[in-house]
Parts: sequence; C-alpha cells; structure tokens
Amino acid sequence: MNKTNDLLPSDSQFTIHNSQFLSDSHCHLQLAGQATAAVLDRARAAGVTRFLVPGTTLEDSAAAVELAQNHNDALAAVGVHPHEAKDFDPKRDGAVLEALARRPGVAAIGEVGLDFHYDHSPRDKQVEVLEWILDLARRLDLPAILHNRESGAEMLAILDRLAPRERPGVFHSFTGSAAYGREALDRGYLVSFSGMITFRAAENIRQAAAGLPLEAMLVETDTPFLSPVPYRGKPCEPAYVVETAKKLAEVKGADLETVAAITTANFERLFRPSPSPAGRGTG
Ligand SMILES: [Zn+2]
Repeated sequence: MNKTNDLLPSDSQFTIHNSQFLSDSHCHLQLAGQATAAVLDRARAAGVTRFLVPGTTLEDSAAAVELAQNHNDALAAVGVHPHEAKDFDPKRDGAVLEALARRPGVAAIGEVGLDFHYDHSPRDKQVEVLEWILDLARRLDLPAILHNRESGAEMLAILDRLAPRERPGVFHSFTGSAAYGREALDRGYLVSFSGMITFRAAENIRQAAAGLPLEAMLVETDTPFLSPVPYRGKPCEPAYVVETAKKLAEVKGADLETVAAITTANFERLFRPSPSPAGRGTG
C-alpha cells in the first residue's frame, strides 16, 4: 500500500529521518494562556512544524497576526467566529478586518461560519457576517476556515451561491458524515480532523474519515480545546496533534509517516502566506 516509498531508492539519502512533520491546521495559540514559545517548542520536539492560528474577533485576529509575525513556522488567519458575529458590523468593522487580512503572515480567512447549536449570535446575523467575510476571502484570494455546527444544509446553500474557486478552504474540526464530507470535497473544500476522532464515542467521525480520501484531509488540535485521548481534561496544545494523526492512520490503514506527509502537503497547498507588501520592508 505504500506506493510513496516505492518511489524512493531503498538505501536512499532521501529516507525521511524526522518521520513526523505534522501540521496543526487550527490552533488558537493566543487563547492557550501559556507561554507561546514553550508550547511551540514542545510541539516542534514532537515533530509538529507548521501551525495555523485562526482569529475569532478583531482583537483576537490581530493577536494571531502578531503571533505569526513572531514565529516563522506559524501562519495566521483573521476572522469572526459565529459566536461573535453579533458584535461585527461589516460597514463599521469590515475595513479593519480587511487591513488585518492584508498583513504579512496571513494565509487564510477564519474562523468563520455558522453555529446553530449554541446560537450565541442570531442566525440571520451569522449568515450576514459569513457571507460578507466569504466575499472578502474571494477578493483577497484567501481560503476560508469554516466552523459548521448543526448548520450543514444552510452552509452548503451559502457556499453554492459563491463563484467556484481554486482553493476555497477547509471545514475545520469535521464531524459530519462521509456523505457530507463528499459534498464539501465536491465544492473544492478540504476537511480537517481534530482530537475528537480519538474520542471513544466518536465512531461516526472515524467512519467519516474511513470513507474520505487522505488527499482531502488536514489534522488540527483546536488548541486549547478538544484535547485528544489520552490528554482529555487537560488544555490542548499543538504537540497533541500527533495523537489525532495516529488515530487517523489507524482508521485509514496507513502509517503515521504517510498521514504526516499527505496532510502536510495538503496544508502547504491550502495555506500560502501572503508576501510582505512591496516597499514596506517588514522582514
Ligand atoms: Zn477554532
């Protein structure tokens, strides 16, 4: 099954020595409440070498951008979480979000989406903000990181109103069925699995992963939430994405190296940092 390895000479210098080079596609490091440098060092020691830090409000997005500017292996996304949509007025705040999205180190818009489970913002407001932000993502040619809870049909209806794009984004912490996942893939989106895939009760998530191709998958921690087994009850951190990748490998009947290589390649295809604006010399 290991076609990739067949391509390598057997005694090759290309043997992957650091076999784990995982990428955490969704970690709220600015919410972790711990020294970021130490958290990142523990992750790097575990073989996690790329990080995407999403934003949930304007302030939180600014913190994500700053974090990405301070750490070479971290990228930022800027966005407004559906819980916070009630406080975002595109007319008043849109220009601030757009300016943040144009900063160096920003590789995506998010997180954004719909949450009809908690309904912390009115649903029509969630839809208004999501549509405005998805239009920003299209204008800036950035992928979107989608939060989608008990809003599956509404989300697909919104995505279907958009013009098709080459790399539209990712459904983060995917918990839908394989059939729903294929709807996402048909629209060009990836799906990202969190530590929930390790939860004893999450057989439905493992079944969805079994029915979808690795080539469309990312892994994430959603730090500081959703710690995988065996760290449940502790604050999550990016080092734990190894547990998610191991479980995904088990579900897919693949080895960890293959899961790491493919999900990291997917990460790099989806998240391309915006270059420093010409003439600004931000280094
Ligand atoms: Zn999140």
